[in-house]
Amino acid sequence: MASSGLLRALRRRIGPSSSTSQILSLTSTFRSISTLVLGEIEGGSVKPSCFSAVEAAKSLSKENSISLLLAGSGSSLQEAAKTAASCHPSVSKVLVADSDVFTHPLAEPWAKLVHLVQQRGGYSHVVASSGSFGKNILPRAAALLDVSPITDVVEISDSHLFVRHAQRKVASVGLSMQQSTSSGREGYRTVTFAFPIVLVEEARVDQLTGGWPIYAGNALSTVRYTGTGPCLLTIRSTSFPVSTVFDDSKPNEAPISQVDLSTFSEDLIGKSRYVKLSSQDTERPDLGNARVVVTGGRGLKNAENFKMIEKLAEKLGAAVGATRAAVDAGFVPNDLQVGQTGKIVAPELYMAFGVSGAIQHLAGMKDSKVIVAVNKDADAPIFQVADYGLVGDLFEVIPELLEKLPEKK
Ligand SMILES: Cc1cc2nc3c(=O)[nH]c(=O)nc-3n(C[C@H](O)[C@H](O)[C@H](O)COP(=O)(O)OP(=O)(O)OC[C@H]3O[C@@H](n4cnc5c(N)ncnc54)[C@H](O)[C@@H]3O)c2cc1C
Repeated sequence: MASSGLLRALRRRIGPSSSTSQILSLTSTFRSISTLVLGEIEGGSVKPSCFSAVEAAKSLSKENSISLLLAGSGSSLQEAAKTAASCHPSVSKVLVADSDVFTHPLAEPWAKLVHLVQQRGGYSHVVASSGSFGKNILPRAAALLDVSPITDVVEISDSHLFVRHAQRKVASVGLSMQQSTSSGREGYRTVTFAFPIVLVEEARVDQLTGGWPIYAGNALSTVRYTGTGPCLLTIRSTSFPVSTVFDDSKPNEAPISQVDLSTFSEDLIGKSRYVKLSSQDTERPDLGNARVVVTGGRGLKNAENFKMIEKLAEKLGAAVGATRAAVDAGFVPNDLQVGQTGKIVAPELYMAFGVSGAIQHLAGMKDSKVIVAVNKDADAPIFQVADYGLVGDLFEVIPELLEKLPEKK
């Protein structure tokens, strides 16, 4: 039985209107944190973004036991499991669901699998990275578990307190919201959402773009999870970089166990079926994980000119990015879009050519370590976030760079 002091402390943590049974249920959760991390497989290995989810899970509690769930079929799955078992010392166990149902990562069977494994293992948290894989599965799994997921987490304060990007979609799921906007451009704004499981306490206007509208990733909301069921999170992998220095004292190979799928009924799944995979045949690094990104905007004027960006990226061994304006104008396919409605990137070096720096674009790249911008307009907003800015004509700058940079070996 929790003491009255502990109850009072917990009531302070989760809000004055919380019931005692809600608090008691949370005390048991606080006592033992165990996390299921969803792992995405590609060509016999686990995608690096999953290890960012492991890093996030590590911040939930020091005593967290972390299981990595992989699903697929055949030898590529077993190969991925073997690699995953020794990839990150914080992974306590690798769970493997081997079935033809998982040959392609369809959201419905995956969500059912997460439901099954969570129920069996009693995990207090389920974490996935905020890519299309996680965003596809986690809300479905949350619906099956009858809990509200918390998406786009950028910081974990404790096991039930998270900082996330405040985006319009929070309001669009039909929740009531009151917003006080009385403060000035650089002040604080208080936003209160009234709904049962997640309580959003406040939104802080980002220093970088203080006073701009909050719904473009420029405001952060602090969210307390007060649900009694498991806590499901998607995390921004750029906010949880994988550490390269590991504690050597820990065993470096986690045990691998097969998930018993004998009770997994396939007939409840079939809402979607795999048709085909189309992907660009390119040797360029993946935009989401590249160390260098070269991005072109509407300033490139057409698809033919955009090839200069591709050539430059090739020389630098970089990924190619684009603004939404460039994508909408048909210069490149939309999987290259960086920004609020595209990919979120945080490379070592981000180079932007003919990009104005609209708030929705900045939302996807402002965490890059070094930002270089070339724009002919000295007042372009991109210069406010750039570490190095060049006011100039990209049609002169890029050819010069191409000429002076050495060929890639
Ligand atoms: C809900 C919503 C979501 C959005 N999501 C995204 C998103 O995810 N990503 C995104 O990028 N945008 C997004 N946008 C669009 C965004 O608002 C901007 O319209 C877009 O980013 C502008 O792209 P741009 O910088 O290429 O084009 P522009 O704003 O037209 O800027 C072109 C720039 O090129 C410069 N330029 C022109 N010629 C040259 C030259 N010869 N040399 C050097 N510089 C030159 C100009 O000075 C200008 O600054 C979104 C908008 C909305 C409403």
